[in-house]
Amino acid sequence: MIKQKKQGSLIIISGTTCAGKGTVVDQLLKRNSNLGLSISYTSREMREGETNGVEYYFISQEEFEKKISNDDFLEYEIVQYGKYYGTPKKEVREMLEHGKDVILEIDVKGAQKIKSMFPETILIFIMAPSMEEVKRRIKARGKENNEQIIKRFQVAYQEINEIPKYNYVVVNDDVLNAVTKIEAILLSEKCRVDRIEEIAVENQEEIIHEFLMDKEFDNSSSFDIL
Ligand code: 5GP
Repeated sequence: MIKQKKQGSLIIISGTTCAGKGTVVDQLLKRNSNLGLSISYTSREMREGETNGVEYYFISQEEFEKKISNDDFLEYEIVQYGKYYGTPKKEVREMLEHGKDVILEIDVKGAQKIKSMFPETILIFIMAPSMEEVKRRIKARGKENNEQIIKRFQVAYQEINEIPKYNYVVVNDDVLNAVTKIEAILLSEKCRVDRIEEIAVENQEEIIHEFLMDKEFDNSSSFDIL
């Protein structure tokens, strides 16, 4: 009776540093086969443990700028330390057309750009339970120097001020808890009235007629109503 839009939804997941976005997104993808992840391009260096084509497509600044002039990005930003990050247009469009819901794991500015182009985008902000916990997680990672850590904190505080621009905020105190909350958000979004393409209701008179003619029912009194 209700025909919903076949096209998938765009879902943006942003979050402060060390909020555990990556782990939450991995779990969402494992548990929901209809979800796809857009893999961004970046000109930043590959970190230890990263693989080209998994976390990002790692390309040079020149290659990135060529892609900008080819209009290959849905959006792009210079995010950290003058490095480019961009969402590929073609891959995202293809996934959406195949009915997949696509997660973009991008920063606050990129999120605003996408939202202005596609207002129905679902914007979710993931937060660590406290900045004390962020400090603990950064220390535990132990990969960056003091200058980089301070920069991360400054960006995190700025990003927290942007939360009102999002539709949902999820505190990642426990991964399974956070994933369950996001799944509930996505399920509710699927039921939104503006996702309905068509409501087709069978002919009322025909249905009543068929019902009255149905020998399995004793319809003798129903004729009096009509
Ligand atoms: P990292 O270098 O730590 O992986 O990511 C740094 C920041 O870049 C994160 O906030 C991440 O969300 C953001 N980011 C990753 N890909 C994109 C993208 O395609 N576009 C934008 N605007 N931000 C991105």
